[in-house]
Amino acid sequence: MGKCCGKANTKFLPATCAWILLLSATTLFFTFPCPYLTFHYHVAIPIVQGVVTFFVLTNFSLATFMDPGIIPKANPDGDKEEDFRQPLYKNVEIKGVTVRMKWCMTCQFYRPPRCSHCSVCNSCIEIFDHHCPWVNNCIGKRNYRYFFLFLLFLSVHIISILSMCIIFILDHKDQLTDPASIVTFVVIGIIFLVFIPILGLTGFHFVLVSRGRTTNEQVTGKFRGGYNPFSRGCCSNICVALFGPQYPKYRSPNKKATYISAPARSVSGGVSENQVKIYIGNNTGVPRHPNTNAYNKVRVLI
Ligand SMILES: [Zn+2]
Ligand SMILES: [Zn+2]
Repeated sequence: MGKCCGKANTKFLPATCAWILLLSATTLFFTFPCPYLTFHYHVAIPIVQGVVTFFVLTNFSLATFMDPGIIPKANPDGDKEEDFRQPLYKNVEIKGVTVRMKWCMTCQFYRPPRCSHCSVCNSCIEIFDHHCPWVNNCIGKRNYRYFFLFLLFLSVHIISILSMCIIFILDHKDQLTDPASIVTFVVIGIIFLVFIPILGLTGFHFVLVSRGRTTNEQVTGKFRGGYNPFSRGCCSNICVALFGPQYPKYRSPNKKATYISAPARSVSGGVSENQVKIYIGNNTGVPRHPNTNAYNKVRVLI
């Protein structure tokens, strides 16, 4: 019991620290240097910074609490006998590139292309990017946009706060021991700690988005020296990441719902149906009946 609670506490620690750092640094900025800057420079400073803060917190919350694209595990009452005879892999051909779909032993279905099983969440996540401890959630097909926007707004947020804090300190060179100056130094110190990692991560994800890749595909070298069938071109990749459709989440198979066949488009990261061919690889197993595969029989929450 104690071990379980300790694990749960550790799990929430990075996300709790992130929220405390973000909220405390922002509050200190608005309370101490901001009134001086508003009075001596421009009345729009707290308004603009307030809007940026709103977008940072909204996207942070959405990335944290939104379903990242969990594919429900197959019904545990399904055909158990067949599971042992399944080939470990199925191959799909997407835009002429063969992509391997692995059988997930835990979830009991073939993982769609770009899907991966997260050991922390213990679920298969569609277009899995990575498991982020700072938001205590997986980043996948449904919440990647909010994670990316969070990074973009957070970068703007810390650059603007750092610049204004430096202006405040330069204007108070003779009063560096005043409480307002000391608090401003604390805010600068917090930003210094996170400045390089956050800007580096934002730049890294900007490159990934423009190239139509996920963090998982990048670090595992999926398209090393090869063609990425999921890329639509730099500008289109950025537009889809920022303004593409918001996908519905899947329902658990245990609840009553109407089954629909998942169109190839919804599981292949934006590749049209006629560009996807599914076939069994050179395995000796017996093909699974299509209706027993959760991937083929996903239910969409409407
Ligand atoms: Zn899985
Ligand atoms: Zn996860």
